[in-house]
Amino acid sequence: MTDALSLTRDLVRCPSVTPADAGALGVLQRVLGEAGFVVERVTFSEKGTADIDNLYARIGNGRPHLTFAGHTDVVPAGDEKAWTRAPFSGDIKDGFLYGRGAVDMKGGLACAVAATLDYLKANGGKPKGSISFLVTGDEESIAVNGTIKLLQWAAARGEKFDHCILGEPSNVETLGDSVKIGRRGSQNGILIVEGKQGHVAYPERADNPVRGIVRLIAALNAEPLDQGNDHFQPSNLEFTSVDVGNETVNLIPAQARARFNIRYNDCHTNASLRALIEQRAAKAAGDAIRWRIEWPPSNVEVFRTEPGPFTDLVVGAIEEVTGRKPKLSTLGGTSDARFIANYCPVLEFGLVGQTMHAIDERVAVDDLERLTRIYRLALGRYFA
Ligand SMILES: [Zn+2]
Repeated sequence: MTDALSLTRDLVRCPSVTPADAGALGVLQRVLGEAGFVVERVTFSEKGTADIDNLYARIGNGRPHLTFAGHTDVVPAGDEKAWTRAPFSGDIKDGFLYGRGAVDMKGGLACAVAATLDYLKANGGKPKGSISFLVTGDEESIAVNGTIKLLQWAAARGEKFDHCILGEPSNVETLGDSVKIGRRGSQNGILIVEGKQGHVAYPERADNPVRGIVRLIAALNAEPLDQGNDHFQPSNLEFTSVDVGNETVNLIPAQARARFNIRYNDCHTNASLRALIEQRAAKAAGDAIRWRIEWPPSNVEVFRTEPGPFTDLVVGAIEEVTGRKPKLSTLGGTSDARFIANYCPVLEFGLVGQTMHAIDERVAVDDLERLTRIYRLALGRYFA
């Protein structure tokens, strides 16, 4: 019997720091293959990026089709000596399994696999519909050869998903406190103001772009982008860097640049948001400032899954196991759920995120057991 604890341990022992796989997908391939899944490994490439290994496994042919999504890659361990237990040891101490990826998100994947195997065992080895696993090794870094391409690949083969659970560490402090039903979008921008270089003693012959960029930054910070809504906090624009790059004390520079990032909610689309920013900048600039904004391409569009029977089912299972009614949240950074949302309703529920990406990332052994029970309950009810 494969249990979530030993599977988490096997996965943590593979040092799969993006883009390395280090055997992590092979661990899942073996376990799922033995349980009767048809398992495929697909490698995606893109010029200028490392090739990435991905896994798709499915059992059953019918509907409904529930897919568990996730990633086996992890962020680097950082200062290995600062860890209580070696970051790829999977050591257990005082009820916690230590290791990079323990909560983000090898533990979550292991619980989903363990719950699925238990469900299959109780149901003659076959689901009443289909269960699949969509697992990538490219989430933590640039995420171009991962879930986004795996979904396209699956769609081209005619795969259709009805619902998805992504086992990212959605809980803030304790198991059962939050389910994520959406995420904000993210867009970077570079504001550029052109001036005319000259001597500081002869300002009439020059045009100082610092004056202009200060005015535009102030204008873009002056008014909120929206007030937020029932599901999302207000959008926010943060300037992250203002750059003139001028080392000379008596020279008026020719150009000033400022970088910013916007985290935006579903009051906007990416296009309407950019139009709003440009409108505000144009108004503040008038004819006096020569400016433009460059928008690097973004693949982080806002999304939200409408609460309904599927979210209710998962929330019910969480309540039953933990005694807690989780918040339906959209807080935090981005995840691969943004890609999945284009194919089917997706929610995120996994372990507790407190130690993710940190020194001493660790998961309570008890949380692994309880998350497995939550997934197991959800599976039983989903196919009932
Ligand atoms: Zn993650």
